[in-house]
Amino acid sequence: MSLKARAQEKVERAGISNYSFDQDILVMCGNRYTIELCECGEPECDGVRLRKNATAIGRVLQ
Ligand SMILES: [Zn+2]
Repeated sequence: MSLKARAQEKVERAGISNYSFDQDILVMCGNRYTIELCECGEPECDGVRLRKNATAIGRVLQ
């Protein structure tokens, strides 16, 4: 399963249906998240981590 598919599953499991993908970026509630592989090894880890991407917002505010 691709990282993107795993991220999609994670989001849907959280009950969020209002999201979309912009290339490999997950867009949710107006925020952009970079999808990263997670290798923490914790039992409940689904192997994917969403990192909030504030770069674009920061540029707008400057
Ligand atoms: Zn993890």
